[in-house]
Formats: sequence, C-alpha cells, structure tokens
Amino acid sequence: MAENEFSFENPEYRKTYWHTCSHVMAQAVKRLWPEVKLAIGPAIDEGWYYDMDAPFAFTPEHMEQIEAEMRKICKEKLKLERFELPRSEALELEKDEPYKIELINDLPEDAVISFYKQGEFTDLCAGPHLDSTGRIKGNALKLLSCNAAYWRGDSSRQTLQRIYGIAFPKKEELDAYLQRIEEAKKRDHRKLGKELGLFMLTEEGPGFPFWLPKGMVLKNTLIDYWR
Ligand SMILES: [Zn+2]
Repeated sequence: MAENEFSFENPEYRKTYWHTCSHVMAQAVKRLWPEVKLAIGPAIDEGWYYDMDAPFAFTPEHMEQIEAEMRKICKEKLKLERFELPRSEALELEKDEPYKIELINDLPEDAVISFYKQGEFTDLCAGPHLDSTGRIKGNALKLLSCNAAYWRGDSSRQTLQRIYGIAFPKKEELDAYLQRIEEAKKRDHRKLGKELGLFMLTEEGPGFPFWLPKGMVLKNTLIDYWR
C-alpha cells in the first residue's frame, strides 16, 4: 500500500476515520439516552452524520453532552471487532432497533450481514473502520448541527434527526476548519443581501429574492453595464 495509507490526505482513510466517528457518536447517544433508535450513519465528503429517532429534539446542550461522551469513548480505546451473523440471529440482535430491522430485511438473500462491536455497543455495518476508538483524537472532533431528515429520504416516512460532525487528527486542523466555516457564513449572499439592504428572502420562497429599492438600483446598473 502507499506510504500515506494512514494519512488524512488519503480520502479512504479520512472516510474510515469519519465513519468510525459516526459509530462513536451513536455509542455516546445510546449511553446517554438508550431509548433513541438508530437509523444510518455514513461518512460524507466533510465529516459524517447519523440519523436518529429520539423522543425529544436534540439541543446544543445535548450536542455538548454527546461530544463529552465521545471523548470518553476515545479515551477508552475500545477495539472495533467485526463479526457476521445469519439473518435470523442478526434480526434477533437488532430486535429493539426498528430501522436496523428494516435494513436487514431489505438485504438480498445471499448478503453477508456484518456487525462492528466496540465495548458494549454493536452496529450493523459493512465497514471498514479504524481498529480502535483510541485512534480518534477526542479534542479534535465537533458536532456541527442537527437537521430533520426523512427516513430513507421519503417524506411519507418518519422524520428523524440528523446530527452532523467533523473530526481531524489535530486540534489545530479542527480550529482552522471551524474558522473557515465561520468566514464562509459571513460572506453568505443571503446574509450580505439582508445586511446591505439589497434584497430579502422569505420562508415562502427561499430561492426567490425580493429586491429592495437599493438592490433594484444595483441590479439595473449591472444589467445596463452588461448590455
Ligand atoms: Zn460502520
């Protein structure tokens, strides 16, 4: 394998790292609120998310609690162990997790059904993952936001809560990332348009700016120039 196999520069390693973070986040949530049901938790282009069905809305305070528990789990250096089960045993193991049951039932007849176990927590998953939660830097992870998301993207199904997170191998990298997000927010046209009094946006038409007089002048000037 290439030299940078275990480097964050390697997109595969990065995804593996973030995906492992999603398991750590799910484990933290289950420790804090065992009644929360888990749906899916993939790595994405920047970080990861996990969709969950909770009987309450996650607040920023909850997110801080989850982060703190995640840091503990990283310190516990739990080994991630993969195992496979025949379908009937897989269904028995996940009997209290309705979303996992649905996922298992949807797997093709001949599918290998694999799980990953870390400490007391087990999740249905194809992998891959890091070999230990100790590989994750607890002080360089952050939960970013929580949005509503439909189960399987289907608006007729349950509305879940999607918690997004990001992590890096070093705290300085996390800080730099968070600063970049803040800067981007400041330059967001939706924010600038409002602050400069150029246009307003309404809930009813999120993609349709309503031009204010100052904005209209600017818009017409630009159109004249373009002509
Ligand atoms: Zn996984």
